[in-house]
Amino acid sequence: MTKQLNEQLNIEMKKSQDTSQELHNYSQTLEEKIKERTVDLENIHLDLKNKQTNLVLAHEIAGLIPWDWNIKDRKITLTDKLNRTHLKNSDLHRAKLLSLIHPDDLEHFKTEMRLHLRGLTERFEATYRVKQYDDKWYWVHDIGSVILRDPRSKRPLHMVGIRRDIHQERQDQERLKLTASVLQQAAEGIIILDEDFKYIEINPFFEQITGFKREQIIGKHIFDITENYKARQRSNHNQIITQIMQNGIYDGDVTEKFLSGKKTAIRFHINAVKDEQNRTINYIGIISDLTEQKLQEQRLSYLENYDKLTDLPNRLYYHDQLHQYLMSQKDSIQQLAIIRLNIDRFRPINEYLSNRGGDELLRQFSQRLRLVTSEAFIVAHLNSDNFAIVYEVSHIRPSINEHCERITKALHTPFNLDDQEQFITVSMGVSFYPEHGRQIDYLNNCAELALFEAKRLGGNTVKIYSNEMSRVVDESNQLERELRHAIHNDELIVHYQPKVYFENHKIQGFEVLVRWQHPTKGLIPPNIFIPIAEQTSLISEIGQIVIDKTAQQIQIWKSMGYEDIRVSFNVAAQQLHRGNLLNTIDTAINKYHISGQNLELELTESTLLENSHAMKKTLEEISKRDIQISLDDFGTGYSSLSYLTDFPIDILKIDKSFVSKIGQPKQEAIISAIVTMGQAMGMTIVAEGIETAEQLNFLNNLNCHLAQGYLFSKPLTETDATKFLKMNSA
Ligand code: C2E
Ligand code: CA
Ligand code: CA
Repeated sequence: MTKQLNEQLNIEMKKSQDTSQELHNYSQTLEEKIKERTVDLENIHLDLKNKQTNLVLAHEIAGLIPWDWNIKDRKITLTDKLNRTHLKNSDLHRAKLLSLIHPDDLEHFKTEMRLHLRGLTERFEATYRVKQYDDKWYWVHDIGSVILRDPRSKRPLHMVGIRRDIHQERQDQERLKLTASVLQQAAEGIIILDEDFKYIEINPFFEQITGFKREQIIGKHIFDITENYKARQRSNHNQIITQIMQNGIYDGDVTEKFLSGKKTAIRFHINAVKDEQNRTINYIGIISDLTEQKLQEQRLSYLENYDKLTDLPNRLYYHDQLHQYLMSQKDSIQQLAIIRLNIDRFRPINEYLSNRGGDELLRQFSQRLRLVTSEAFIVAHLNSDNFAIVYEVSHIRPSINEHCERITKALHTPFNLDDQEQFITVSMGVSFYPEHGRQIDYLNNCAELALFEAKRLGGNTVKIYSNEMSRVVDESNQLERELRHAIHNDELIVHYQPKVYFENHKIQGFEVLVRWQHPTKGLIPPNIFIPIAEQTSLISEIGQIVIDKTAQQIQIWKSMGYEDIRVSFNVAAQQLHRGNLLNTIDTAINKYHISGQNLELELTESTLLENSHAMKKTLEEISKRDIQISLDDFGTGYSSLSYLTDFPIDILKIDKSFVSKIGQPKQEAIISAIVTMGQAMGMTIVAEGIETAEQLNFLNNLNCHLAQGYLFSKPLTETDATKFLKMNSA
């Protein structure tokens, strides 16, 4: 019995042990399972968290603002730029949003929303402007969708969406469009090739040159559109390609036979465009038509023959037209009247009117002027409030007095500006061809003197030039005498304005600017006396003084250790014509032991207009001395890109009149286009007249090289310039 019981117990114990083992095993598996699941869950959680952060990051990068609108509960959740969520009453939010949307976009927004809420569109989508905290309009793109509707009534219950800031994109698009339009208007062929020399973009002028349409050119190899049959043609083409591949540049004149049948003498200027790693990504080319008539057109039409503000021909066009007319019609013209017109008291009126008021006045005035001068040969807007009108005079036409009276009468009705009436009067000065002279410049001067006289008499008058007015000429003679005296007495001094690198604001050099330290009148700026000096031989003397003083100062700076200092100096057209400029430069270089690399020459486009052989020679000689040549005030004149290939120009100076208009999209587009082209042609780009951080920033983004302007420094005396140099050198 006991034995039996014992056995029984043993069996039971064993069983229990087994069960316990089983239980243990089981619990272990369970534990492991749980562990596994936990890890899984943790992973899932982590993953989710990562995804969420990524999403938030993506939103932030893309400027996305997600919104979640619980329509039923009138609640909306918004995620702001700093990634905080805000729960708001949706009615209040909507009211606020509607008040911030641009009035012109409001209807569009409301309609789109209404249609979608009613279930008539698949999704809600609208592009509109909202006013931001800085009171400026920003473009946004809003997109959303109802995700829950009442099953029976189909009323929307819940909607989600995303708003995206597209301001930059819009601006870029706009800029691109405008840049493109500049290229469209260019009076030179412009081509962009890919790295295999296939056309990827061309402008209309290139169509004209080749006789092909854009579609026929794009995608073809550069010389697929020209004859290639003869061995000579092929070898010429190969040579061009080889040169570009080797040197990154080709520059030369060729006569091409295009397969369209056109045969043209052209100038090729092709440059490789490289990326940061110095790999060629594109080629950009400027193709000038060398036929005489084309050259003429080209000079006249690049950026503007016409003043953008008033739509009237500008000063250069006026001169050119008048010149051509006088040359071609010399024998048939009997009498011409040249009228110079100026609005009385324009400055105070302009200051009184709100910001754009002055421009608006000029625009309206020009319109009226054009209407009453329909019989004139030309009506031009010279600058600010100065106009010129030219009439052919004959006994069958109204007299000049009548013409002037019509203009005066047209001003009896006031102008409407800012809902205010503005009366203006004008003064006019008249000169006659051939009585007062046969040269345009002279005739213009006479008309201007007559205008001065009209102004002196109090304005609102017409004066015809008479010899008595040479009294005014006497005055400028007086100034000329004084200037001679000043030169003799060493009253001319120079100031130096720093130029700094965009990238680190370290100094590169200076521009030297002349001033007249008058014993009684104080410091006289150059625009008062340079124009007078330019009409006499005095300009060469002034040039000599400036170059001598500059070279002497460079010697001092070099002795202080600033070996590479560079100072640019301005030269007027006369200095280049008279031909002693080279002498002056050579003398200064030798006397002060400086090198050509320490100097830079600044000249303006109008100087180059002459395009004479002698001028080209002089500039080439200057280049040979390692003196860089800079094109000053670029963009204000003809801005023909062909100068850049005709003359040895190294540097483009973007004029301060452009820089001051940064902020206006059209002007910005022109600057971008000029800078891009200049860079593609290997020019150094200097921007002058930089006064604000905004201007600096814009130009910096365009990768300009050197900055000059009051933001960094005004022109300085020698002592202050030296201080600046010490503080800002690399
Ligand atoms: P420029 O060659 O265009 O010289 C630049 C002018 O812009 C200088 O006026 C300079 O003081 C001014 N400027 C520089 N930065 C700023 C800025 O941020 N804001 C503003 N509003 N103006 C700025 P400056 O010295 O009165 O010279 C006027 C012109 O006189 C020069 O124009 C140049 O054409 C001529 N000039 C000056 N020195 C000489 C010279 O030695 N020889 C010749 N032939 N012409 C000279
Ligand atoms: Ca200059
Ligand atoms: Ca300038």
